[in-house]
Amino acid sequence: MTSTQVDLDRRTYDLDRAHVFHSWSAQAALDPLVLAGGRGCTVWDHAGREYLDFSSQMVNLNVGHQHPAVTAAIAAQAAQLSTIAPSTANLARGEAAQRITALAPEGFHKVFFTNGGADANENAIRMARLHTGRDKVLSTYRSYHGNTGAAVVATGDWRRMPNEYARGHVHFFGPYLYRSEFWADSPEQECERALRHLERVVQCEGPQQIAAILLESVPGTAGILVPPPGYLAGVREIADRYGILLILDEVMSGFGRTGRWFAFDGHDVVPDLITFAKGVNSGYVPVGGVIVSDSVASTFDERVFPGGLTYSGHPLACASIVGALDAMAAEGIVENAERIGREAIRPALDALAQDIPLVGEVRGEGVFWAIELVTDRAARTPVPAATMARIKTGLAERGVLIFLAENRIHVVPPCVVTAAEVATATTAIREVLTAL
Ligand code: PLP
Repeated sequence: MTSTQVDLDRRTYDLDRAHVFHSWSAQAALDPLVLAGGRGCTVWDHAGREYLDFSSQMVNLNVGHQHPAVTAAIAAQAAQLSTIAPSTANLARGEAAQRITALAPEGFHKVFFTNGGADANENAIRMARLHTGRDKVLSTYRSYHGNTGAAVVATGDWRRMPNEYARGHVHFFGPYLYRSEFWADSPEQECERALRHLERVVQCEGPQQIAAILLESVPGTAGILVPPPGYLAGVREIADRYGILLILDEVMSGFGRTGRWFAFDGHDVVPDLITFAKGVNSGYVPVGGVIVSDSVASTFDERVFPGGLTYSGHPLACASIVGALDAMAAEGIVENAERIGREAIRPALDALAQDIPLVGEVRGEGVFWAIELVTDRAARTPVPAATMARIKTGLAERGVLIFLAENRIHVVPPCVVTAAEVATATTAIREVLTAL
């Protein structure tokens, strides 16, 4: 390693600490990792120290770092036309919307593009309110929907509370058998009781006032809570019974993460609006959007949709979507996520659960897994934050980047991950947990 490379790491760190104001943090104690480059599931700093990226950064990097098809698509579009107003027709935008709707269920033909996931939810809520003429939005306590006006108030976790300026949001409990709110001891019971609870909330809030139920198809940051069979279909039935729209948030779970294109595929449910971001282009350029069903879209055939963004359908973002989705289809990247989940991640995490008392539960699918850590298996007491900090440090020392949330390790590598990389990361997790 040359002194210039070390100097670049130092300069990067110093500039960051001097001038960058970071998300969701008290600024003084921050100690950000310097990263300079990457390829596939690996990232490195300027000095060449490598890390295996099992966080997919913000769980968005489905095709891995620097996929050549995506970077080439962005470069080609940048050479041709780097930006253009949303009111124009642009080929990359049309191609991206066509690719996305082709993956959606029957009856979805339009995409409204946003800058990311939060404003996708924001606009889906706006559409639902205008379409139904109703106001309230129901979402779960265990959820994250983004950090803008309505999206952060739809969020269930602590991030909502300092931001509660939007009105009309009501929360309820979704299914989570390991920490059941319903005293359930089987997935069937959890499903039935969670649906009954939701219907009672709908009735008590006044069905005539409820525009939408907004759900992550698989709640992600809240714990990778794969819904029990029948839950999403049951929510659809309740929504239909009361004329309420169903918005499924696929921002984290969509585009391959679960081993399916959409997480709700296979759950026998068709929503009215689908929100997306992250995996659609692996975040190479910021983008998100709402996939709009024909019935909601037709509300705005003659009536103005009162929403828009300077960068809606930005050509660089749209070119990266086309590049990413075409590469994912051509290279079987979604199929890889499904197979690796089944053949490599599940067995490795099951073995951890077998051998290490600290592991309370492992759950997930595809490349979307949580290891829930407890100090007492019977009482299911979450491990303290200090333990999680030691885990993070221990894994970084072993060259593994991981996504930690509360008392959980989220094992969320890119969809292109190999069995050998899973073995390396899960061995490191085993070593760190055993050392505790
Ligand atoms: N919805 C879900 C399920 C998310 O996980 C996130 C971000 O993590 C968002 C929405 C917000 O997306 P963004 O950060 O792009 O605004």
